[in-house]
Amino acid sequence: MIDSAADGGDLLITDIGQLVDPGEGAFSAPLEIVTDAFVWIREGRVVAAGPMSDLPGDAAGTQALSAGGRVALPGLVDSHTHAVFGATREHEFEQRLAGASYQEIAEQGGGIGFSVLDLHARSEDDLVHLSRPRLAASARFGVTTVEVKSGYGLATEQELKMLRVVARLATEPELPRLVPTFLGAHAVPVEFAADRAAFVRLVVDEMLPAVAAERLAEFCDVFCDQGAFTRDEAETILRRAAELGFGLKIHADEFVPLGGTQLAVELGAASVDHLVAVDDAGIAALAESDTVATLLPGTSFFLRLDRHAPARALADRGANVALATDFNPGSSMTQNLLLMVAFGCCLLGLTVGEALRAVTRGGALALRRMDRGILMPGAVGDVALFEVPDYRHLAYHYGMSHCVVTIKGGEVIWRRAGGGSRFPT
Ligand SMILES: [Zn+2]
Repeated sequence: MIDSAADGGDLLITDIGQLVDPGEGAFSAPLEIVTDAFVWIREGRVVAAGPMSDLPGDAAGTQALSAGGRVALPGLVDSHTHAVFGATREHEFEQRLAGASYQEIAEQGGGIGFSVLDLHARSEDDLVHLSRPRLAASARFGVTTVEVKSGYGLATEQELKMLRVVARLATEPELPRLVPTFLGAHAVPVEFAADRAAFVRLVVDEMLPAVAAERLAEFCDVFCDQGAFTRDEAETILRRAAELGFGLKIHADEFVPLGGTQLAVELGAASVDHLVAVDDAGIAALAESDTVATLLPGTSFFLRLDRHAPARALADRGANVALATDFNPGSSMTQNLLLMVAFGCCLLGLTVGEALRAVTRGGALALRRMDRGILMPGAVGDVALFEVPDYRHLAYHYGMSHCVVTIKGGEVIWRRAGGGSRFPT
């Protein structure tokens, strides 16, 4: 599929202070930390990584980059965003600060409805122009793979337009790799309020086949919650999507548990996302499956919900967990994935190791990408270098932009100007 495969450069990264590799272990397994390390990338893939004392002789001659003692992780994976949109919604932010809820704003024509009307009025070129710097900003936080959803179109041509924007941006070498998801069932458009079934039929009979025909999305997602789609509506859409070859995702249990989590597990979905209101049956279902629990603590924070997904229970029961930004103009306006690491620790109760795994290997599993989020031979040559004295500072020294170099497929796609001072306090 799209996923902007980098053709691949050759790069030898030396003098890494701490090389942090989540590896392929269980979610709560300790991270592998190698001090004074290297990563050798050839033709865009990792060929070796380990202590400098093990550096293979034939790596000599490869273009080298000294990490200068900085901390290296595999490029971060932001596995849930709505990064293609038109206007921002700071006016709604103020309304929420004044006491309005996300649902009240939506009922008054704001929320997703505002973004839909705005997107309809914009050209594909305009959306490419607006989305490019937003995705480039992700790379500045060390993110090298971003999932991007449609869902502000809610009409066939408009959904296709959004996904074509993603496809165009996916070819740009300076941006992170993009994984496109079709979310035609993001909200019921106002014109279908009296006949929801007709909209579900439109998604199933027209939108999904059109997206499949142009190979514009790899996953199909549905917002299954109060005020969005019911469990049965979600099942109709996801079953058709599976028949057409899409991987499956679901937004579920953000506000009210409707059974979407169990449905997603039953259908073998790659991930269930949100889970703030998941019940015990949902946790049990996830614990016994390969479906990743994708948690979005920035959204609970930004919506001032005072309620967070039960990350500790999910981890203790053995579920795979990912953390993502949910970057979107209404409920989580940030590309800072490391902030989600801090939230994962302080609001959700994860350990530093778990939270870092959740933005690397966890995100990769949520996108069914086995070749990233780790630094083993064969993995994509995506590496982020951070200006911190110890990897735990990535959560502990929170809210900061610690990334100094972002590498995608052995090519530097972003470097902090001037390099900065080492280990600022
Ligand atoms: Zn979302």
